[in-house]
Parts: sequence; structure tokens; C-alpha cells
Amino acid sequence: AVPSTERKVVLITGASSGIGEATARHLAAAGHHVVLGARRTGRLASIVEELSAAGHSAEHTDLDVTDPGSVHAFVGGALRRHGRVDVLVNNAGVMPLSPLAALRVDEWNQMIDVNLRGVLHGIAAVLPSMRDRGSGHIVAVASTAAHRVDPTAAVYCATKYAVRALAEGLRQESTDVRVTVVSPGFTRSELMDRGGDAEVQQAARAVAERIAIPASAVAEAIGYAVAQPAGVDVNEIVVRPTVQG
Ligand code: NDP
Repeated sequence: AVPSTERKVVLITGASSGIGEATARHLAAAGHHVVLGARRTGRLASIVEELSAAGHSAEHTDLDVTDPGSVHAFVGGALRRHGRVDVLVNNAGVMPLSPLAALRVDEWNQMIDVNLRGVLHGIAAVLPSMRDRGSGHIVAVASTAAHRVDPTAAVYCATKYAVRALAEGLRQESTDVRVTVVSPGFTRSELMDRGGDAEVQQAARAVAERIAIPASAVAEAIGYAVAQPAGVDVNEIVVRPTVQG
């Protein structure tokens, strides 16, 4: 574990399952203080209880990243309690897959609201205090879908390409706040269990069951970027199953 002088206050969105949960566990075990946010607070409470019982430092807050007020409260509460936010991991995301012609407009908007607007809300909430302190680290979980478009994933890919563009813009404008994009390939999580065209989701689930890497592999990539000294900014990591085409 890191010495207490290097302990960071790390906020993680979408920490109730999958990659966010794994990241919270990984960074807490590394000695950082983690603040878990998501809507399923029962899940968050039991993860925090488990981490605390293991002697780690963790807390949780109810969070809906589509609501700017909720994101500001998530960050504002951490700033009040700890005086700073060192790292924000913008991880919350949804992936209801379907062909465009199915016109599942509500799900398109949900992906834009969670995957893109949610990241913007996170940036807006942490950037002022990070700028004031002259340090900080904003991590976004994008996807291999931010590098390549596939059928049934056009809107999802559009949101993830946008997140990469946003992170690159933020990096260019920033000389003190670090910016990292971690882009996973197929990863074991609950991402494919919610929404989308039933047949398409089932096919994606079948691939994931066959080839997905554990969420801890992505958490370790995030942990690597977080562990670098302040002057070293790891801008992008792609981590996917070896067999993924
Ligand atoms: P999960 O479904 O397991 O986790 C998604 C998390 O996002 C949950 O904690 C969920 O919590 C949270 N979330 C969803 N909507 C909201 C919201 N409105 N406000 C706050 N939190 C929300 O999937 P993953 O762990 O796989 O997903 C994490 C990230 O990884 C996503 O951005 C996803 O796009 C990305 N990714 C995943 C890949 C994979 O193969 N699994 C591959 C590439 C990228 P709750 O419902 O409790 O709010």
C-alpha cells in the first residue's frame, strides 16, 4: 500500500458493479481513500462495508451522473469532507445495443446522457478545485468502441469516440491536471444485462462469456495511471482480451 502521505482521494462513478467496483477495490487495497457513486446504493453500501472490514478507507454516495446537481453534490461532499479530490474516475456507462433502424431513441438518449453528458458533468464538478490546487487527475473509461465502429453499436461508439475527443481536448488545455482514457475490450460485468435489442444483447453476451477479461484487469490499468508521479500523464491505455479481433 502507498504511504499515507501519498494516499489519494479517488471518486469513482458507476462503482456498484463491474469495472467501477473492481477499480474501487483495487485502489482501496492500494491504500487510497475511495468514494463510490452509483444509483444502486444498497450495492455500494455492501462493497464499502466489505472494504472497511478489510481495513481499507471507503465511503459511498448516491449518484446519478445524468443529473448535474447530483454530480456536484457527489464532488462537493468529498471536497467538504476531505478538502480535495485527487482523482475522478468517470466510469459510469450503459450499452443498450440495437441497429439504428430500430429507432430506439430513448436508449440513444440514455447513452448520450450517461456516457457523454455524465462525463462532462464530472469534469465540470471537479475541474475548478483541481485548477485551484494546480493538480488533479481525471480518468475516463472509454472502450475499444472508441476506436472502431461496429453494427448495432453506432450510438454507443459515438459516445465513446466523443469521450476520447473530450479527454484529448481537456489534456491539450491542461498543464497541471492529468487526463487518462482507459479503453477496455470485452470485460466481465453487468453491462450487457440492461436494455437493447434482446437478440443483439444475447449475441454480445455470448461473446463476452467466451472471451471477456476480468474487470480487475481494467482496474489494474487505471491503477497504473493513477500511480504515476504528478509530472507523468498516461494518456491512453487499451486493454482487451488477447483473442478479441
Ligand atoms: P456495469 O453495468 O457492470 O457497470 C456500469 C456502472 O454504471 C454501474 O455501476 C451502474 O450503476 C453505473 N451507472 C449506470 N447509469 C448510471 C447513472 N445514470 N448514474 C450513475 N451511475 C450509473 O458495466 P461495466 O463495468 O462494464 O461498465 C463500466 C464502464 O466500462 C462503462 O462506461 C462501459 O461503457 C465501459 N466499458 C465496458 C466494457 C465491457 O465489455 N464490460 C468494454 C468497454 C467499455 P447503477 O446502475 O447502480 O447506477
